[in-house]
Amino acid sequence: MLMVTEQKPLAEVSQLIDKCHKVYLIGCGTCATTLHTGGKSEVIEMKRQLEDAAKEITGWMVIPTTCDTLTREALAENTAAIEAADCILVMSCALGVQMVARFSDKPVYPALNTLFLGMEGNPGFLNEACIQCGECVIGQYAAICPVTTCAKGLLTGACGGARGGKCEQQPEHDCAWILIYERLKKLGMLDKLKEAASPKDYSKMKRPRQLELTPL
Ligand code: SF4
Ligand code: SF4
Repeated sequence: MLMVTEQKPLAEVSQLIDKCHKVYLIGCGTCATTLHTGGKSEVIEMKRQLEDAAKEITGWMVIPTTCDTLTREALAENTAAIEAADCILVMSCALGVQMVARFSDKPVYPALNTLFLGMEGNPGFLNEACIQCGECVIGQYAAICPVTTCAKGLLTGACGGARGGKCEQQPEHDCAWILIYERLKKLGMLDKLKEAASPKDYSKMKRPRQLELTPL
């Protein structure tokens, strides 16, 4: 499971940090390294590109997991170089960017777009598998999520538009409801399709969501 990111175009990054002459760069050693969007090589390449654009890089680091609260210690260990910068450019998912901002008084900017939480599907592809709807219903659907995987989010598919097993809206994707049907068939559980889908409580998706932690 990876937080899937892509690099923003350099022109967009440059616009974000146009008021900063001195920049501190942060990458992430977990998802962004795996996806080659914000690991060591990408941070070094960003440094080169910004220096070519007459920026001064006061320092850089790749934090093992930028979205982790240990980011506070990593920032504390690099106070001098960070203080010398006008802003911090973070090459991690938005969680990492927000974690850096939580522990720094400097302006913090994202160099990446955060796309989705992905799982490896066909070789070379990452698929979105869950949009964290807050009321998991995949027990009714052979552990395949129609909310995420069906382009229309249908709980009572199929829509009838699939062609050759592919979705009518996004032909590069398998039809979620054919996948659900085939898996239920394999499991000998096709009767599940005769059950009425329970109404879904979409209020659980209202934002921002919060969970109070129970002390141990
Ligand atoms: S129903 Fe789908 S989107 Fe909702 S929690 Fe389950 S897997 Fe995630
Ligand atoms: S073709 Fe399948 S996946 Fe696409 S919208 Fe229709 S039911 Fe959903």
